[in-house]
Amino acid sequence: MSAQAKDPRLDLLEARREHNAGTQVENDRLPAGSSMYYYCTTCGAHVATKPEGWWQDPPPKHCATCKDDIQDGVIARDDSYDDWLKEHGRSKYAER
Ligand SMILES: [Zn+2]
Repeated sequence: MSAQAKDPRLDLLEARREHNAGTQVENDRLPAGSSMYYYCTTCGAHVATKPEGWWQDPPPKHCATCKDDIQDGVIARDDSYDDWLKEHGRSKYAER
């Protein structure tokens, strides 16, 4: 791959992040006993909902698409959704 050719999968990642910003459920603000919502740490896509206190198996850290792109070396392992949000002045959670 030449240095100037940007992988289109990075544009798709950008689109996923734009789409997911402001959509996350804030687990800390749910009533006790509510299910917990988990999101991809790379793009913010919802990956799992687990009952509170669920420890049997950890929720996946990445959605299937990001997992593949990271494995293929398209997305850097340390390219996080949190950093992207900070850089773009966006919030994970819906405005309240
Ligand atoms: Zn993802």
